[in-house]
Amino acid sequence: MARMIINQDKCIHCATCEVECPFKAVLISDKGIFSIDDELCRRCGICASVCPMDAITKEE
Ligand code: SF4
Ligand code: SF4
Repeated sequence: MARMIINQDKCIHCATCEVECPFKAVLISDKGIFSIDDELCRRCGICASVCPMDAITKEE
């Protein structure tokens, strides 16, 4: 199944994806690392479209 992946080398921790995700699927670890919860994510692609760094991609 496809899943959304955050490229940690590109992420600048702006939190835009976390704010814009309608399903609260973007998680922030206590170390400030952003990730996407596969159970909550519906693959709508909004996070990828709003990320200023193009850090989020859909992987098959
Ligand atoms: S929108 Fe992009 S750069 Fe900003 S926190 Fe999310 S993945 Fe990182
Ligand atoms: S694809 Fe949609 S549901 Fe999944 S993390 Fe991005 S904005 Fe949230």
